[in-house]
Amino acid sequence: MLVEYRRKTGRGLSLPLSAEKIGQWVFDLNILWEDIPMEQDTTRLAKLDSNNRIVLNQLAKRAFDERHGLLNTTIAHEVGHRVLHVDTTKDSQMPLRDFICTSQEGRGETAYPEEKQAHMFMAYLGNNILDT
Ligand SMILES: [Zn+2]
Repeated sequence: MLVEYRRKTGRGLSLPLSAEKIGQWVFDLNILWEDIPMEQDTTRLAKLDSNNRIVLNQLAKRAFDERHGLLNTTIAHEVGHRVLHVDTTKDSQMPLRDFICTSQEGRGETAYPEEKQAHMFMAYLGNNILDT
């Protein structure tokens, strides 16, 4: 990813890394805010949609404001879906379905395997991401 970022931007990234920059420059992900309806007792933070967009939930803005680092780790999780769950051997590199992610994804035993995998990606990348 870092080599691809350097190739596309002509600049290197230094530590700590920005998940947002990696998503935008390496994977052409658009990052925007929209309302994502939430079910009771579940905080939906973001989704990677089938239009290659990371949609951050405007309805969870307070959680992002109150929890330092949540924004970048959430973006890193969505980049994980893009890296791990989008078949880049096909013509379209867009996700085939939306990955709608909650604040609990990846932790519970009932979480989908894709969510645990994206969470692991986030954790590995998160050791080095920009925490602002
Ligand atoms: Zn997810």
